[in-house]
Formats: sequence, C-alpha cells, structure tokens
Amino acid sequence: MKALHMGKRERKTIYLDYAATTPVRPEVVRAMAPFLAKKFGNPSALYKLGLEAQEALNSSRSSIASVLNCRADEIVFTAGGSESINLAILGAAKNFRKNHKAGGHIITSTIEHHAVLHAVDALAAEGFSVTKIGVTEEGFFKLDELKKAIRPDTFLVSLMYANNEIGTIEPITEIGKLVRKINSDRIKLVTRHPSLVTPILFHTDACQSGGYIDIDVQKLHVDLLTLNGSKLYGPKQTGCLFVRRGVRLEPIIYGGGQEKNLRSGTENVPGIVGFAKALTLAHQEQEQETRRLEALRDYFISRVEKSIAHMQLNGPAPRTETKKAPAYIPSRLPNNINLSFANIDGEALVIYLDAHHIAAATGSACTSQSTDPSHVLEAIGLSKTYIRGSIRFTLGKYTTKAELDFVLKTLTALVAQQRKTTQQIL
Ligand SMILES: *Cc1c(COP(=O)(O)O)cnc(C)c1O
Repeated sequence: MKALHMGKRERKTIYLDYAATTPVRPEVVRAMAPFLAKKFGNPSALYKLGLEAQEALNSSRSSIASVLNCRADEIVFTAGGSESINLAILGAAKNFRKNHKAGGHIITSTIEHHAVLHAVDALAAEGFSVTKIGVTEEGFFKLDELKKAIRPDTFLVSLMYANNEIGTIEPITEIGKLVRKINSDRIKLVTRHPSLVTPILFHTDACQSGGYIDIDVQKLHVDLLTLNGSKLYGPKQTGCLFVRRGVRLEPIIYGGGQEKNLRSGTENVPGIVGFAKALTLAHQEQEQETRRLEALRDYFISRVEKSIAHMQLNGPAPRTETKKAPAYIPSRLPNNINLSFANIDGEALVIYLDAHHIAAATGSACTSQSTDPSHVLEAIGLSKTYIRGSIRFTLGKYTTKAELDFVLKTLTALVAQQRKTTQQIL
C-alpha cells in the first residue's frame, strides 16, 4: 500500500490506531468487488444469481471454519463484534429465561469492551445477577475470583481473549478447561436428571486476537467466540459468532430466519466474502507478522523508556521468545503499546500528534467521545494522573521502523514542551 495519502500536497499520515480499525487490504477489496455489483443476488433466491451468492457464502463459511477449527454450520455471520457479543450474551440469557422463571447469573470482568459491559448491565436491570471479576496490575483475570463467583445458577461466563486497551492476552484455554470441569461435575451430581442441568456457556470476545494469536476454538475450549472483520483488514460491520453445536441461543433479530434463525436479514455477501478473505490472509501471515510487530513494539518501548522520564508501560511486560525460553507464552498483543506520562494530558498529546500527522488514541478509542477515565486503566489500579496521561499506539501491517523513529522524535519533543508549559503555568 502506498500509505494513507490525505491529498497530493499533504504529508502522509502515520497511522498507529490499528486496534480501533484497519484499512481494508487490496486483496480483500478485489475479492469483494464482484459481489457489490455483478453478483448481487440474494442468497435465498433459487435462480443462478442467488445460487452464486449462496456458494460465496458457503465457501466463506468454510474458510472461516477452517481457521477456527470448527464446522461450517457453527459460524453465524453478524454485522460486527458488538452484534456478535450481544447475540452471545442476550441470546444465552433469553434462552435461560425460557427455561427458568427466575435466577440466572453471569460472570464477566471489569476490563471487557463496552459491548459486553453494557449488555450485562442491561440484563442486570432485568433481574439477572452479574459478577465482574477483577484483574491484576498487568490486566490478567483473577482466576480465584472467577472460581469463587460460580453459582448453581451461573449460565454464562464471558471473558475477553485479549484486551483492546492494554493488550493483555488472557489464559482462555485454562478458563475453558475450568468451565468444562465445572459442567461435568454438575452433570455427575444429577445423573438421574441430566436434562435439569444448565451448563455454563463460555464466551470469549476475540475481536483483537485474529491474526495475532491462536483462535482454534477446540484448543480454547470455548462455546461461543466473537470475531470481527474491521480489526483485521476486512470491511467494517462484518464479523461472526462461533456457536458450538448443541449450544442454544435465542435470536435478538427476528425476520426471514437466515443464519439458522439466529440472525435474520439478507446476508451481507460482499462483506462476508471480504471478512473471510481478510481472516484467511491474516491467519496465513500470523506467525511472521507477529514476530515483526513484536520486534517493532519492543524497539519502540525501549526507545521511549530511554528518551522520556516519568513514563510507564501499562499492561503486561512484553515477553518474547529467547533461546532460553523458546516456547514462550505471549502475554501481550504484538501490536499494543499503552504508555502513561506523568504531568501530561493524553488527549492534548493526541491532538498535537495529529497536527504532526500521527494518529494515536488516548486510553480507549471506543470512548473518546466521553471524558470518563478509561475503565480498564482504572481496573489495573492506575492513579488518576497516569490515567490522564495515557496514550495508546497500536501498530499494524503498514507500520515501519522509520515511522516509529519519527513518532519517537515527535513524541519526545511534545512531552517536553507540554511539561515545560505546565510548569510555567504553575
Ligand atoms: C472493536 C471491538 C469490539 C467491537 O467490535 P465492532 O466490530 O466495532 O462492533 C468488541 N470487543 C473488542 C475487544 C474490540 O476491540
């Protein structure tokens, strides 16, 4: 890609907000193009134009299933991450309510995306019980809190795979195994009436994970997994929910009964084709791209540490592969850098960086319209000053070392300038 040109004369933008959204890569644009105009048929139709669209849907479903290591009929296409999350959470709750007049308990965490937090808050207002487990200073879930929170009427655990603000990669496999064990113990308790047992469903929000970490649903032991296209060089408002066979959900959108009755509405064929292409490419390039970005990430962090005083990295310390520990377990997303500077206004810094054609985010891109402090930075126990002085750089496919060198130079100057001005005012 020739970079993100903003016009002939203007300087190229250095985009470092890939966790918010990504540009659609050219291969994806090419794959989608025929389905926008020429092959525009409705997949439900019986004539050739419809069948052609149906075939594109089928093959997209299969390629996504092969990345997730599941069956094609376990993929439900939705209009993005938020919708998949809502379908998982509200769909499970509605199904629970169908079978039980009262009760119903959900476990999630304090650092989830607002799509999860606001969905469970809405359910709490309807009478469901919700427990939000806490995290360590590095953003790892407190598993002892999770174990203690389980109740006989717990029907859903929703915990994210990787955090969008501070990049923490959570031990989803371990949690998946724990939930399985609890479910099998429950069944043993009531072997005579297995139909009375409500298994706990385990949902994970993997919106930041595709293309960086393993999203094999068998290894993860998840029942539900949310994925979106707009974070992996696919089109916006695309995504899917993996729904394990046997898992019962009620729909949240009613209509023509598409997607096995779980998501009515004429399928977004070009979007689905683009999403499938983007995920397949991201999966193929995952290992190489992860290594490249980890190296760039660690380079940038170490350079900032040397250049700017009173700075800290938020989230887990990056652990990369060494000769001593070849089978390392990644703890931080390869593209995530979240920093806090003392005596700095992060929002002002973002605006000044933009004036230098650098696009970065404050604490959380999703809440930039609100002035509320980031709930994730609060959850890891960061002081108010450091929350205020936080900035997130997320790297991606088109990030280069030269770009990061320029950002480093600009950032160092802007921080020094802002600190000097603040001192003068004080
Ligand atoms: C982006 C994101 C979402 C929401 O996805 P949309 O496609 O924007 O609806 C949910 N969870 C996480 C972790 C995300 O990063």
